[in-house]
Amino acid sequence: MDQPESSLPHAAVQKGQTPRHEELVRLIAQSLYSLGYRKAAATLEAESGVPLYPPEHDRLLLDVMSGRWDACAATIDSLTGITERNRAVAEFLVWRGHFLELLGTGDAGLRLATEVLSRRIAPLAIDRRCVHWLARAVVTSEGAVAPEAVAECRIGLFLDLVEALPPWFRVPSGRLEHLVETAVIQQVASCIYHNLPDEVTLFEDHKCHEEQIPSDCRQILCAHKNEVWFVRFSNDGNYLASSSSDCTAIIWKEDGTIFN
Ligand SMILES: [Zn+2]
Repeated sequence: MDQPESSLPHAAVQKGQTPRHEELVRLIAQSLYSLGYRKAAATLEAESGVPLYPPEHDRLLLDVMSGRWDACAATIDSLTGITERNRAVAEFLVWRGHFLELLGTGDAGLRLATEVLSRRIAPLAIDRRCVHWLARAVVTSEGAVAPEAVAECRIGLFLDLVEALPPWFRVPSGRLEHLVETAVIQQVASCIYHNLPDEVTLFEDHKCHEEQIPSDCRQILCAHKNEVWFVRFSNDGNYLASSSSDCTAIIWKEDGTIFN
């Protein structure tokens, strides 16, 4: 049975560390790399004992770039914490890459390509339309990878592979920044008296206080002849609606005049 992806960190958690700790270290390392602080990121990996990527990630990269297709499939098969669907899609990508490279070798690779299609790709039952297209490619050579384009295609294949695998395998780019931004947006959204156009700082939780609401009297609106029961500003803040027990509702403009 598949296990939940989030409950399965890729590496053994060291003594005194929690899975959350490991995830955080990996996100910080990734953020440092993306900011260009490669030495700091490498030092963090070494000091924490938490690599940015699981060992299977680097192994898969090496195997894909070397065209060791059985080894790629074995690595994918060895991954824990991924769904069977994820696994089948990843294997499908591997064998499709191998198939298209074989087609690119001309008649020499045709028999082997057909075998890969029938024994490796078709049984995975992934993307029937693509399988039909690959079957046609045996005749048309459409999509065949020319020998000089192999390296570039393998890089593309690896990128497709990591996209097909769970987030813990690849660490989605900009993840730490996304988490921080989400926290800021949520704090602002839940700020009852939000009244500050300034940038929200990361150094403290955001909260506007009641006393920050403007309280100076700027205008007195006098058109109603009896008690006012309800007022509300328009979303853009340019108009104010008021209703009164005098049986009238008035739309006011920003300058205090009545909107006709
Ligand atoms: Zn606020």
